[in-house]
Amino acid sequence: MNLEQVRADFPILEQEVNGKPLVYLDNAASAQKPQAVMDAMTQYFRETHSNVHRGAHSLGDRATALFEGARETVRSQINAASANEIIWTRGTTEGINLVANGFYRSLKQGDEILVSRMEHHANIVPWQMLAEATGASLKVIEVTPEGELDQQSFRDQLSERTKVFAITAVSNVLGTINPTREMVAAAKEAGAYTLVDGAQAIPHLGADVQALDCDFYVFSGHKLFGPTGIGVLYGREDLLNEWPVYQTGGEMIHRVSFEGTSFQNSPYRFEAGTPAIAEAIGLATAMRYLDDLGHDGLHEAEAALDRRVDEWVADFPGLTRYGQAQNKVPVLSFWLEGLHPSDLGTLLDQQGIAIRTGHHCCMPLMEHFGIAGTARASFAFYNTVEEVDTFFQGLQRIQRLFTGK
Ligand code: PMP
Repeated sequence: MNLEQVRADFPILEQEVNGKPLVYLDNAASAQKPQAVMDAMTQYFRETHSNVHRGAHSLGDRATALFEGARETVRSQINAASANEIIWTRGTTEGINLVANGFYRSLKQGDEILVSRMEHHANIVPWQMLAEATGASLKVIEVTPEGELDQQSFRDQLSERTKVFAITAVSNVLGTINPTREMVAAAKEAGAYTLVDGAQAIPHLGADVQALDCDFYVFSGHKLFGPTGIGVLYGREDLLNEWPVYQTGGEMIHRVSFEGTSFQNSPYRFEAGTPAIAEAIGLATAMRYLDDLGHDGLHEAEAALDRRVDEWVADFPGLTRYGQAQNKVPVLSFWLEGLHPSDLGTLLDQQGIAIRTGHHCCMPLMEHFGIAGTARASFAFYNTVEEVDTFFQGLQRIQRLFTGK
């Protein structure tokens, strides 16, 4: 991977912020978009835009072909068996809500939903609401001091009562890569439906839903170098065709009359209303862009960043890192002694360095560590080792200035 060439694909990185070259380390919140994605969307708007699936005219046919072509790209990139298993959503959050909604009529008292303490709120609250409404209970897999999922806690809580197992493949706070495949297999063995939150995993590791063998897999376009407003829910086709509908209205019906309405099969039964057409095309373009770059090259680039972060952290007095998993993606959540994370965020921003501070939508995980929040630097393949150095040198400068160390 030629890093200079890759960075040229991301024009937003070429700017100064507060008089300093931008160092963008907030990729876990939202990643930047390559020019190819912007071009594909602009070209669609300039040349093709029309509604899909209903035009009696050529533009409508072309828009439909691009839109369905994008679905096929996603199918092949995550190795789903059929394009009917790819549902467009607004993002991870909507995907999880769609799946959780499907359980409202079937779950009952005595049933259990198993999640983990390191889940994003998007993979907690929909299940909590479901539990409250149905009388089922929400069970929680605990996290070790190193920030890994406690496998004993998992085994202790998994049982024939577990009806839903919903887990993130990678922690957005700690960078931990969870043994998702093994855990999904155990949960299926116990008879549970399985959902994997791939929001943070897919930008770093890609996804192979058949190898993972989960029932549902969800992710967001904007974290995968694609646009906002679009995401994907993968589900097993046989399951989806039986799954309760979520939003209702146009496009998702088979026949409507005042006596009753019948619905289409997947994916259309879950895509009520006019979809985000340009965004779907943008997301597919982002996935093709990553594929063209080559996943091996991306992994190597990220591993080099991760090593450099580890080197700095190993010898940085006053810095506490949260999460020391064996298997991780390049994310650093930390506290600097004597400095509040939100002050740190502001002070780094003055040096052109963008990080995120706060609870990262993971309050139960913060509770585990006994803190209200962290500062988080999250890296993408387009970041450079020099940027890692700039970030830590920035921290050193702030530390000297404010703590005299
Ligand atoms: N799950 C995880 C692990 C995430 O990191 C995020 C985004 N921070 C989400 C879910 C929610 O994604 P979105 O806001 O795009 O729906």
